[in-house]
Amino acid sequence: MKNKYLFLFFFIALFLGCRSETKEGKMLSVTIEPQRYFLENIVGDSYKINTIVPAGVSPEIYEPTPAMMMNLGKSAIYFKVGFLGFENAWAENLAKNNPDVKIVNCSEGIDLIYGEHYHHTSDKPDKGEGHALLPDPHVWTSPKTARIFSENMYKALVEYDSLREEFYRQNFLALVQRIDRTDSIITRLLMDIPSRSFIIYHPALSYLARDYALRQYSIELEGKNPSPAQMKALIDTARKEGIEVVFVQQGFDMKNAAVIANEIGAKVYRINPLAYEWDKEMIRIARILAGKEE
Ligand SMILES: [Zn+2]
Repeated sequence: MKNKYLFLFFFIALFLGCRSETKEGKMLSVTIEPQRYFLENIVGDSYKINTIVPAGVSPEIYEPTPAMMMNLGKSAIYFKVGFLGFENAWAENLAKNNPDVKIVNCSEGIDLIYGEHYHHTSDKPDKGEGHALLPDPHVWTSPKTARIFSENMYKALVEYDSLREEFYRQNFLALVQRIDRTDSIITRLLMDIPSRSFIIYHPALSYLARDYALRQYSIELEGKNPSPAQMKALIDTARKEGIEVVFVQQGFDMKNAAVIANEIGAKVYRINPLAYEWDKEMIRIARILAGKEE
């Protein structure tokens, strides 16, 4: 009799033990910091979030260390941006070696821009990068696309950890509100601006430009520094369109940007579309275009 109760107790304890084993404490991986921002807004501190590309490093040419690949392999879910740098090579590797890690493409369902985006190819000639057949990967740089981007994260999370669906849903709705607020601030800022055209070193703001009727001109052409003739053509365009803003992303060369800005009487601004505080940086970029930032 006693044994029977003991057995029952053990069984219940085991059952409760399983029940209470939430998926908290597991690791989730993302490629870049703005993704960590979206994901943290949805999961709070229920998960450890691992960003693969360190701050200040270009995700377009970054290749993870073996330690980072190990972390990736231990993750419950890997949220890739979609088409950024060598992400798909890592994802392929991951699927082969750690088939349990769920891989989510955050660009799914976004109306992608093709044919305008190139990367530096000189140091990686054989990896198939640098041709315009791949879509422009910087989908997180517009609130309109960031909404779909975050929804992809939310849906994958709920599918993985359905016990906490309500918690994630509330957080996701709050995040959407924040994105909507960023959207309306940017819309208001860009309503009446000196010029709808701007110059940028690497064309990372294509989605922002498309969604807010701006024109983006990149200094880099097909992933390379421009020739003197191309520089001259860009300066001519800039004069015609009254461009006042030249953006340079962190980690990119200032020299050509400074030459152009000098020629056309524009100002060079350092921006970081890879910043963790996504909303702040997006609003700052719009403020610069509106002539409201020093
Ligand atoms: Zn790029």
